[in-house]
Amino acid sequence: MDIDSLSDRILNGERRALARAITLVESGREDHRAKASALLAKLSGSGRQALRVGLSGTPGVGKSTFIESFGMMLIALGLRVAVLAVDPSSARSGGSILGDKTRMERLSREANAFIRPSPSQSHLGGVARRTREAIALCEAAGFDVVLIETVGVGQSETVVAEMSDLFLLLLAPAGGDELQGVKRGIMEMADIILVNKADGDLKSTATRTCADYAGALRLLRKRPQDPEGFPKAMTVSAVEEQGLELVWAEMQALRNWRKETGHWAQNRVAQAQYWFEQEVRSALLAQLSTAQARADMARLGGQVSAGLLSPSAAASEMLATLVPKT
Ligand code: GDP
Repeated sequence: MDIDSLSDRILNGERRALARAITLVESGREDHRAKASALLAKLSGSGRQALRVGLSGTPGVGKSTFIESFGMMLIALGLRVAVLAVDPSSARSGGSILGDKTRMERLSREANAFIRPSPSQSHLGGVARRTREAIALCEAAGFDVVLIETVGVGQSETVVAEMSDLFLLLLAPAGGDELQGVKRGIMEMADIILVNKADGDLKSTATRTCADYAGALRLLRKRPQDPEGFPKAMTVSAVEEQGLELVWAEMQALRNWRKETGHWAQNRVAQAQYWFEQEVRSALLAQLSTAQARADMARLGGQVSAGLLSPSAAASEMLATLVPKT
Protein backbone atom coordinates (compact mmCIF):
# COMPACT_ATOMS: atom_id res chain seq x y z
CA MET A 1 0.00 0.00 0.00
CA ASP A 2 1.27 3.47 -0.73
CA ILE A 3 2.19 5.85 2.05
CA ASP A 4 -0.55 8.36 1.23
CA SER A 5 -3.42 5.93 1.63
CA LEU A 6 -1.82 4.30 4.69
CA SER A 7 -1.49 7.74 6.23
CA ASP A 8 -5.14 8.59 5.45
CA ARG A 9 -6.36 5.37 6.97
CA ILE A 10 -4.31 5.92 10.11
CA LEU A 11 -5.68 9.45 10.48
CA ASN A 12 -9.07 7.85 10.08
CA GLY A 13 -8.32 5.72 13.15
CA GLU A 14 -8.28 2.38 11.31
CA ARG A 15 -6.61 -0.20 13.53
CA ARG A 16 -5.52 -2.49 10.71
CA ALA A 17 -3.69 0.36 9.05
CA LEU A 18 -2.11 1.23 12.39
CA ALA A 19 -0.96 -2.37 12.88
CA ARG A 20 0.51 -2.36 9.40
CA ALA A 21 2.34 0.88 9.99
CA ILE A 22 3.82 -0.44 13.23
CA THR A 23 5.04 -3.52 11.36
CA LEU A 24 6.68 -1.12 8.93
CA VAL A 25 8.50 0.85 11.66
CA GLU A 26 9.60 -2.43 13.26
CA SER A 27 11.19 -3.69 10.08
CA GLY A 28 14.95 -3.58 9.74
CA ARG A 29 14.82 -3.49 5.93
CA GLU A 30 16.22 -0.33 4.45
CA ASP A 31 13.36 0.27 2.00
CA HIS A 32 10.92 -0.20 4.89
CA ARG A 33 12.88 2.29 7.00
CA ALA A 34 12.62 4.84 4.24
CA LYS A 35 8.86 4.29 3.92
CA ALA A 36 8.46 4.43 7.70
CA SER A 37 10.30 7.75 7.86
CA ALA A 38 8.15 9.18 5.09
CA LEU A 39 5.00 8.00 6.84
CA LEU A 40 6.04 9.43 10.20
CA ALA A 41 6.95 12.74 8.59
CA LYS A 42 3.57 12.87 6.89
CA LEU A 43 1.71 12.10 10.11
CA SER A 44 3.73 14.44 12.31
CA GLY A 45 1.54 17.33 11.18
CA SER A 46 -1.60 15.78 12.68
CA GLY A 47 -1.06 17.70 15.92
CA ARG A 48 -2.80 14.94 17.86
CA GLN A 49 -1.41 14.14 21.28
CA ALA A 50 -2.24 11.25 23.55
CA LEU A 51 -1.58 10.90 27.23
CA ARG A 52 1.49 8.66 27.27
CA VAL A 53 1.50 6.53 30.38
CA GLY A 54 4.47 4.33 31.33
CA LEU A 55 3.65 1.33 33.53
CA SER A 56 6.20 -0.92 35.16
CA GLY A 57 6.10 -3.84 37.57
CA THR A 58 7.64 -7.26 38.14
CA PRO A 59 6.04 -10.33 36.53
CA GLY A 60 2.98 -11.45 38.48
CA VAL A 61 2.25 -8.08 40.09
CA GLY A 62 -0.86 -7.70 37.94
CA LYS A 63 0.12 -5.49 35.00
CA SER A 64 -2.09 -7.23 32.43
CA THR A 65 -5.00 -7.40 34.83
CA PHE A 66 -4.61 -3.73 35.71
CA ILE A 67 -4.31 -2.64 32.08
CA GLU A 68 -7.39 -4.63 31.19
CA SER A 69 -9.51 -3.19 34.05
CA PHE A 70 -8.15 0.32 33.70
CA GLY A 71 -8.42 0.22 29.91
CA MET A 72 -12.03 -0.96 30.09
CA MET A 73 -12.82 1.89 32.47
CA LEU A 74 -11.26 4.44 30.11
CA ILE A 75 -13.22 3.00 27.20
CA ALA A 76 -16.43 3.27 29.22
CA LEU A 77 -15.56 6.96 29.60
CA GLY A 78 -15.51 7.23 25.81
CA LEU A 79 -11.72 7.21 25.40
CA ARG A 80 -9.62 5.22 22.93
CA VAL A 81 -6.77 3.22 24.47
CA ALA A 82 -3.60 1.78 22.94
CA VAL A 83 -1.28 -0.62 24.77
CA LEU A 84 2.35 -1.09 23.72
CA ALA A 85 4.98 -3.20 25.43
CA VAL A 86 8.72 -2.88 25.93
CA ASP A 87 10.02 -6.25 26.96
CA PRO A 88 13.74 -6.49 27.74
CA SER A 89 13.63 -10.29 27.80
CA SER A 90 12.42 -10.46 24.22
CA ALA A 91 15.15 -7.99 23.28
CA ARG A 92 17.79 -10.33 24.69
CA SER A 93 16.60 -13.81 23.96
CA GLY A 94 13.67 -13.73 21.59
CA GLY A 95 11.52 -15.08 24.42
CA SER A 96 8.97 -12.79 25.95
CA ILE A 97 7.72 -12.14 29.46
CA LEU A 98 5.00 -9.76 28.36
CA GLY A 99 3.98 -12.44 26.12
CA ASP A 100 2.29 -13.40 22.94
CA LYS A 101 -0.10 -15.46 25.04
CA THR A 102 -3.53 -13.93 24.93
CA ARG A 103 -3.59 -11.26 27.54
CA MET A 104 -6.24 -8.66 28.19
CA GLU A 105 -8.95 -10.66 26.48
CA ARG A 106 -11.81 -8.30 27.18
CA LEU A 107 -9.83 -5.24 26.19
CA SER A 108 -8.59 -6.85 22.98
CA ARG A 109 -12.20 -7.32 21.84
CA GLU A 110 -13.01 -3.62 22.21
CA ALA A 111 -13.20 -1.55 19.04
CA ASN A 112 -11.67 1.39 20.87
CA ALA A 113 -8.64 -0.54 22.08
CA PHE A 114 -5.43 -1.42 20.28
CA ILE A 115 -2.94 -3.86 21.80
CA ARG A 116 0.51 -4.51 20.39
CA PRO A 117 3.08 -6.88 21.92
CA SER A 118 6.74 -5.96 22.15
CA PRO A 119 8.84 -6.16 19.00
CA SER A 120 11.16 -9.11 19.54
CA GLN A 121 14.74 -10.00 18.79
CA SER A 122 16.36 -6.67 18.82
CA HIS A 123 18.54 -4.75 21.26
CA LEU A 124 16.82 -2.40 23.67
CA GLY A 125 17.99 0.63 21.69
CA GLY A 126 16.18 -0.61 18.59
CA VAL A 127 13.10 -1.44 20.61
CA ALA A 128 13.15 2.09 22.05
CA ARG A 129 13.11 3.71 18.64
CA ARG A 130 10.34 1.48 17.36
CA THR A 131 8.26 2.04 20.47
CA ARG A 132 8.59 5.81 20.14
CA GLU A 133 7.54 5.56 16.53
CA ALA A 134 4.64 3.29 17.46
CA ILE A 135 3.53 5.88 20.04
CA ALA A 136 3.61 8.57 17.36
CA LEU A 137 1.50 6.36 15.08
CA CYS A 138 -1.05 5.69 17.86
CA GLU A 139 -1.30 9.43 18.49
CA ALA A 140 -1.89 10.13 14.81
CA ALA A 141 -4.58 7.44 14.84
CA GLY A 142 -6.40 9.44 17.49
CA PHE A 143 -5.84 7.32 20.58
CA ASP A 144 -6.40 9.32 23.76
CA VAL A 145 -4.26 7.21 26.09
CA VAL A 146 -1.19 5.17 25.15
CA LEU A 147 -0.08 2.77 27.87
CA ILE A 148 3.53 1.64 27.55
CA GLU A 149 4.09 -1.43 29.65
CA THR A 150 7.40 -2.86 30.80
CA VAL A 151 8.71 -5.48 33.18
CA GLY A 152 10.45 -4.12 36.24
CA VAL A 153 13.95 -5.26 35.54
CA GLY A 154 16.77 -2.77 35.08
CA GLN A 155 17.17 -0.59 32.03
CA SER A 156 13.75 -0.86 30.44
CA GLU A 157 12.09 1.44 33.01
CA THR A 158 14.38 4.29 32.03
CA VAL A 159 13.59 3.70 28.38
CA VAL A 160 9.85 3.78 29.08
CA ALA A 161 10.02 6.72 31.52
CA GLU A 162 11.86 8.73 28.86
CA MET A 163 8.96 8.32 26.46
CA SER A 164 6.09 8.82 28.91
CA ASP A 165 4.22 11.82 30.26
CA LEU A 166 3.32 9.95 33.44
CA PHE A 167 4.95 6.91 34.98
CA LEU A 168 3.12 4.37 37.13
CA LEU A 169 4.87 1.74 39.21
CA LEU A 170 2.77 -1.28 40.15
CA LEU A 171 3.75 -3.13 43.34
CA ALA A 172 2.39 -6.07 45.28
CA PRO A 173 1.43 -6.01 48.95
CA ALA A 174 4.53 -6.99 50.96
CA GLY A 175 4.61 -9.10 54.09
CA GLY A 176 6.26 -7.26 56.98
CA ASP A 177 7.09 -3.62 56.66
CA GLU A 178 10.19 -3.78 54.50
CA LEU A 179 10.10 -1.94 51.21
CA GLN A 180 10.31 -4.53 48.47
CA GLY A 181 13.86 -3.85 47.45
CA VAL A 182 12.59 -1.36 44.90
CA LYS A 183 15.59 0.56 43.69
CA ARG A 184 15.66 4.19 44.64
CA GLY A 185 16.15 5.19 41.00
CA ILE A 186 12.93 3.45 40.03
CA MET A 187 11.01 5.01 42.92
CA GLU A 188 12.27 8.39 41.76
CA MET A 189 10.84 7.81 38.29
CA ALA A 190 7.35 7.04 39.56
CA ASP A 191 4.62 9.67 39.57
CA ILE A 192 2.16 7.31 41.19
CA ILE A 193 2.94 4.04 42.98
CA LEU A 194 0.03 1.60 42.85
CA VAL A 195 -0.09 -1.16 45.41
CA ASN A 196 -2.23 -3.73 43.60
CA LYS A 197 -4.20 -6.68 45.00
CA ALA A 198 -5.80 -4.60 47.74
CA ASP A 199 -8.62 -7.10 48.12
CA GLY A 200 -9.61 -10.12 50.22
CA ASP A 201 -6.95 -11.34 52.62
CA LEU A 202 -4.36 -9.02 51.12
CA LYS A 203 -6.29 -5.82 51.73
CA SER A 204 -4.80 -4.83 55.09
CA THR A 205 -1.29 -5.75 53.98
CA ALA A 206 -1.78 -3.62 50.88
CA THR A 207 -2.91 -0.67 52.97
CA ARG A 208 0.17 -1.00 55.19
CA THR A 209 2.49 -1.39 52.20
CA CYS A 210 0.95 1.69 50.62
CA ALA A 211 1.58 3.73 53.79
CA ASP A 212 5.21 2.55 53.81
CA TYR A 213 5.71 3.70 50.25
CA ALA A 214 3.93 6.98 50.86
CA GLY A 215 6.43 7.54 53.69
CA ALA A 216 9.36 6.63 51.47
CA LEU A 217 8.15 8.96 48.72
CA ARG A 218 7.95 11.87 51.16
CA LEU A 219 11.66 11.41 51.86
CA LEU A 220 12.58 11.85 48.20
CA ARG A 221 13.75 15.18 46.91
CA LYS A 222 10.88 17.40 45.78
CA ARG A 223 10.79 17.50 41.97
CA PRO A 224 9.94 20.72 40.17
CA GLN A 225 7.44 18.94 37.92
CA ASP A 226 5.25 17.90 40.86
CA PRO A 227 2.44 19.73 42.60
CA GLU A 228 1.88 19.27 46.33
CA GLY A 229 1.15 15.65 47.22
CA PHE A 230 3.04 14.05 44.28
CA PRO A 231 4.54 11.56 43.76
CA LYS A 232 1.94 9.54 45.62
CA ALA A 233 1.11 5.96 46.59
CA MET A 234 -2.38 4.48 46.24
CA THR A 235 -3.97 1.05 46.65
CA VAL A 236 -5.95 -0.61 43.86
CA SER A 237 -7.51 -3.94 43.10
CA ALA A 238 -7.23 -4.68 39.40
CA VAL A 239 -9.34 -7.83 39.81
CA GLU A 240 -12.15 -6.18 41.76
CA GLU A 241 -11.77 -2.95 39.79
CA GLN A 242 -11.38 -0.92 42.97
CA GLY A 243 -9.66 2.44 43.11
CA LEU A 244 -9.31 2.82 39.36
CA GLU A 245 -11.45 5.96 39.03
CA LEU A 246 -9.39 7.58 41.75
CA VAL A 247 -6.16 6.70 39.94
CA TRP A 248 -7.54 8.25 36.76
CA ALA A 249 -8.59 11.38 38.66
CA GLU A 250 -5.09 11.76 40.13
CA MET A 251 -3.48 11.20 36.74
CA GLN A 252 -5.64 13.92 35.24
CA ALA A 253 -4.92 16.28 38.12
CA LEU A 254 -1.20 15.77 37.57
CA ARG A 255 -1.51 16.20 33.83
CA ASN A 256 -3.54 19.39 34.18
CA TRP A 257 -1.13 20.90 36.68
CA ARG A 258 1.87 20.11 34.49
CA LYS A 259 0.15 21.53 31.43
CA GLU A 260 -0.74 24.74 33.21
CA THR A 261 2.76 25.21 34.61
CA GLY A 262 4.54 24.37 31.35
CA HIS A 263 6.27 21.27 32.77
CA TRP A 264 4.36 19.08 30.36
CA ALA A 265 5.73 20.73 27.24
CA GLN A 266 9.19 21.09 28.79
CA ASN A 267 9.28 17.37 29.51
CA ARG A 268 8.43 16.48 25.91
CA VAL A 269 11.12 18.82 24.64
CA ALA A 270 13.68 17.32 27.04
CA GLN A 271 12.67 13.82 25.94
CA ALA A 272 13.08 14.72 22.26
CA GLN A 273 16.55 16.05 23.08
CA TYR A 274 17.41 12.91 25.03
CA TRP A 275 16.38 10.63 22.14
CA PHE A 276 18.22 12.75 19.62
CA GLU A 277 21.44 12.30 21.61
CA GLN A 278 20.78 8.59 22.18
CA GLU A 279 20.27 8.04 18.46
CA VAL A 280 23.51 9.80 17.58
CA ARG A 281 25.36 7.67 20.12
CA SER A 282 23.84 4.42 18.97
CA ALA A 283 24.42 5.23 15.30
CA LEU A 284 28.10 5.91 16.04
CA LEU A 285 28.37 2.67 17.98
CA ALA A 286 26.73 0.81 15.11
CA GLN A 287 29.37 2.23 12.78
CA LEU A 288 32.03 0.74 15.02
CA SER A 289 30.59 -2.74 14.70
CA THR A 290 30.68 -3.11 10.91
CA ALA A 291 33.15 -5.65 9.54
CA GLN A 292 35.23 -2.88 7.99
CA ALA A 293 35.37 -0.94 11.27
CA ARG A 294 36.36 -4.02 13.22
CA ALA A 295 39.16 -4.72 10.76
CA ASP A 296 40.36 -1.10 11.00
CA MET A 297 40.26 -1.31 14.80
CA ALA A 298 42.32 -4.50 14.74
CA ARG A 299 44.85 -3.03 12.31
CA LEU A 300 45.25 0.24 14.24
CA GLY A 301 45.24 -1.62 17.57
CA GLY A 302 48.12 -3.73 16.24
CA GLN A 303 50.06 -0.60 15.42
CA VAL A 304 49.47 0.75 18.92
CA SER A 305 50.69 -2.54 20.42
CA ALA A 306 53.79 -2.46 18.26
CA GLY A 307 54.55 1.07 19.44
CA LEU A 308 54.17 2.50 15.92
CA LEU A 309 51.23 4.77 16.79
CA SER A 310 50.21 6.52 19.99
CA PRO A 311 46.72 5.60 21.30
CA SER A 312 45.42 9.10 20.48
CA ALA A 313 46.87 9.16 16.99
CA ALA A 314 45.34 5.75 16.29
CA ALA A 315 42.00 6.90 17.69
CA SER A 316 41.99 9.98 15.44
CA GLU A 317 42.78 7.83 12.45
CA MET A 318 39.99 5.43 13.39
CA LEU A 319 37.45 8.23 13.89
CA ALA A 320 38.40 9.74 10.56
CA THR A 321 37.30 6.51 8.86
CA LEU A 322 33.85 6.71 10.50
CA VAL A 323 32.56 10.24 10.29
CA PRO A 324 32.25 10.60 6.49
CA LYS A 325 30.01 7.54 6.34
CA THR A 326 26.98 8.94 8.16
P1 GDP B 1 1.62 -9.46 35.17
O1 GDP B 1 2.61 -10.58 35.01
O2 GDP B 1 2.21 -8.32 35.93
O3 GDP B 1 0.99 -9.04 33.88
O4 GDP B 1 0.44 -10.03 36.14
P2 GDP B 1 -0.99 -10.61 35.75
O5 GDP B 1 -1.94 -9.52 35.42
O6 GDP B 1 -0.82 -11.73 34.77
O7 GDP B 1 -1.44 -11.17 37.17
C1 GDP B 1 -0.70 -12.17 37.88
C2 GDP B 1 -1.60 -12.86 38.87
O8 GDP B 1 -2.06 -11.94 39.87
C3 GDP B 1 -2.86 -13.44 38.23
O9 GDP B 1 -3.12 -14.68 38.82
C4 GDP B 1 -3.92 -12.42 38.56
O10 GDP B 1 -5.21 -12.99 38.64
C5 GDP B 1 -3.47 -11.93 39.93
N1 GDP B 1 -3.94 -10.56 40.16
C6 GDP B 1 -3.80 -9.49 39.33
N2 GDP B 1 -4.41 -8.40 39.87
C7 GDP B 1 -4.92 -8.79 41.04
C8 GDP B 1 -5.70 -8.13 42.06
O11 GDP B 1 -6.04 -6.95 41.98
N3 GDP B 1 -6.03 -8.86 43.16
C9 GDP B 1 -5.70 -10.18 43.29
N4 GDP B 1 -6.09 -10.80 44.39
N5 GDP B 1 -5.01 -10.84 42.34
C10 GDP B 1 -4.63 -10.16 41.25
